[in-house]
Amino acid sequence: MKAILLQHHGGPEVLQLGDFPTPQPGPGQALVRLHAAALNRLDLWVREGWPGIRLEYPHILGADGAGIVEALGPSVSDWNLGDRVVINSNLGCGRCDFCLAGWDNRCRSWQLLGETVRGTYAEYVLVPAANLHPLPDGFSERVAAAAAMVYHTAWHSLIKRANLRTGESVLVVGASGGVNTASIQIARLAGAVVYVVGSSPAKLALAESLGANHLIDRSKDENWSKAVYNLTGKRGVDVVVDNVGTTYSQSFRAACKGGRILTVGNSGGARFEIDNRYIFGKHLSLIGSTMGTRQDFSEVMSLVFSGKLQPVLDCEFPLAEAAVAHERMQSGEQLGKITLLIDT
Ligand code: ZN
Repeated sequence: MKAILLQHHGGPEVLQLGDFPTPQPGPGQALVRLHAAALNRLDLWVREGWPGIRLEYPHILGADGAGIVEALGPSVSDWNLGDRVVINSNLGCGRCDFCLAGWDNRCRSWQLLGETVRGTYAEYVLVPAANLHPLPDGFSERVAAAAAMVYHTAWHSLIKRANLRTGESVLVVGASGGVNTASIQIARLAGAVVYVVGSSPAKLALAESLGANHLIDRSKDENWSKAVYNLTGKRGVDVVVDNVGTTYSQSFRAACKGGRILTVGNSGGARFEIDNRYIFGKHLSLIGSTMGTRQDFSEVMSLVFSGKLQPVLDCEFPLAEAAVAHERMQSGEQLGKITLLIDT
């Protein structure tokens, strides 16, 4: 099969189209013929590498994908060849205590498609059949792939971990990334009032189009926590979605007493100082999570399929131009999800 093969870490130029043996499904597995894949910031980090990361080379990036069932391993009976599917990239073992309790994103032998195993920048991908989700007739594979990981992640964080309730206020730090745009939509759907801090008028216009109620342009107002404080009548917001990390000092200030700070990532870097006095002094909860459960995937994708949640699409590139797609993502200029068209 054709695939974008990663032979070592580096810049976008290390993403090279090549041939790789088409995998064959074993017990419980399915082979999916991909039609669409989507980029996530995770892909850039895996490509660049971090201390301790261990990949089996050649590695194939990509957590998100949609296509059709091409082959099924022994003992897989609930799917048919040709079924249209979107992939849940959170790979739980299905047997450990966490998986059995429904927390498969806390699995003891947790794997993530495209990070710890080969992913979707390819004509075919091998996944556990339990990670397939049916795609309704006529629903775009591109849209499904673009939605999967970011909506799954944002849903788990906002709805399951933060228990977001109608009438609460949510601040999203960042206006245009995949998880942030998903968070804006999910928070609005949940009946929250949404504040967004963004870095440019174009990104804030996107946030507004997704339903954000209050926009703060940090290119004009660096002290955005004060702006949030003033906009909320000097109360602060109930929930802050902060996947930057280095912005915590402002997020802590923007939160109300008893506020919840949610994190599913650290686009500003992994290590930074925090002022602990805000955490105890304001009764703050710092809530982390990664990905979502199988139940979350089913819940959030049904909202995507019904059109209640609509991923924002940026450019689409053919699979062979994955490096160009990475350059675009790295530039930070994209508005919404960058996708790959896999035309076999
Ligand atoms: Zn498990």
